[in-house]
Amino acid sequence: MSAYDTAVAGYDTSLSEEQIAIRDLARDFAEREIGSVVMEYDESQEFPAEIFKKMAELGFLGVMIPADYEGAELGAVEFSLIVEEVARVDPSVALGVAAHNGLCSGHILGFGSGALKEEYLPRLATGQTIGAWGLTESGSGSDAGGMMTTARREGGDWILNGSKNFITHGTVGKVAVVIAMSNPELPPGKGASAFVLDKSMEGFYASKKEDKLGMRCSDTSSLVMEEVHVPGKNLIGDEGEGFKQALKILDGGRISIAALSVGLAQGALDAALKYANERSQFGNNLAAYQAIQFKLAKMATDIAASRHLTHQAAFLRDTGQDYTLAASQAKLFASETAVRCAEEAVQIHGGYGYIKEYPVEKYYRDAKLLTIGEGTSEIQKIVISRHILGY
Ligand SMILES: Cc1cc2nc3c(=O)[nH]c(=O)nc-3n(C[C@H](O)[C@H](O)[C@H](O)COP(=O)(O)OP(=O)(O)OC[C@H]3O[C@@H](n4cnc5c(N)ncnc54)[C@H](O)[C@@H]3O)c2cc1C
Repeated sequence: MSAYDTAVAGYDTSLSEEQIAIRDLARDFAEREIGSVVMEYDESQEFPAEIFKKMAELGFLGVMIPADYEGAELGAVEFSLIVEEVARVDPSVALGVAAHNGLCSGHILGFGSGALKEEYLPRLATGQTIGAWGLTESGSGSDAGGMMTTARREGGDWILNGSKNFITHGTVGKVAVVIAMSNPELPPGKGASAFVLDKSMEGFYASKKEDKLGMRCSDTSSLVMEEVHVPGKNLIGDEGEGFKQALKILDGGRISIAALSVGLAQGALDAALKYANERSQFGNNLAAYQAIQFKLAKMATDIAASRHLTHQAAFLRDTGQDYTLAASQAKLFASETAVRCAEEAVQIHGGYGYIKEYPVEKYYRDAKLLTIGEGTSEIQKIVISRHILGY
């Protein structure tokens, strides 16, 4: 492998042969099936249903779901590799893969009863149903505990009222995990519960679809609940455990956003390397100038560090160790790396980086979500500082 290939492909000496095969399968799929339609979906903001169907056939929609529920039964490292490779080609498709697997399915898999798993996981793993996950509300984002959505008991059922904001797959998702205050008198750590909702339930519907800066083919909308009758069996785990479950789900989600960030940054570096070798100014390729070389060197080094942090967090998760700190560190560093790399890639392209014919324009728009979703950079710093200060 040449130095150029090494930088472009990324490398990780700790991967097994099976993991490398999964990474290569995802890389090949993304280049072959997504590469040519990235900008069409970006412009139309249409959810890429056909791509999701094909990803389902490869097991990418049930990555960590056990085979008993028709999943691929892989670990967090393999999930990170798949998300990274899809993101390298189209970060907005990767966002859907991350949310469907890590948030919706992950919550049911991690905390749901056997009956809930049997009812929902096979449909989610095979892509028959796309999943959403609703924690954020218009008045409560970083401070998710300030949620106003309520769940009150009525006989054996729960009645949900409220709305969730900025929900990935809010429109296309037929199933959603929703966190609501089942006892508003208590703090969220004890008063919030999680439920599986289905669009067939009366009063549960998607509202405003967002028109976004980036990640445009990822479907983002509000979810509204008006007197929705949710059967008692759709409570996930115990009453009052919803907020704690959600925080755990966000820990895992942060590893996948870190992987997505690595893929986006790698895609931006690939494009910048190619362009720097092709574009000539003042009689030389841009790559001959040290100012450009140093940008490329910094990008490649930050990406390698981000990838290691991501795989470390995934490894801790796969081996049953505490990964909250590692996931926050990976998410913080990788997402900020993605934003920086996308910006540098545009800079290396000059004016051509600012127009849509070159892929870096889209990476630049897509990247910003990564320092915001699933906990902003500021929130990651709060999580990390609490850990290192021992709070
Ligand atoms: C495209 C997209 C997809 C999303 N998908 C989902 C989804 O599927 N499910 C879901 O539940 N949510 C989803 N979200 C919501 C996302 O998780 C929130 O936007 C995010 O958590 C930030 O919340 P907020 O937007 O309300 O910002 P705010 O919480 O209002 O924060 C605004 C700013 O203040 C800073 N800030 C807040 N509190 C503090 C503090 N204590 N100290 C220092 N700074 C602080 C923040 O870091 C940020 O810079 C999505 C958002 C987007 C844009």
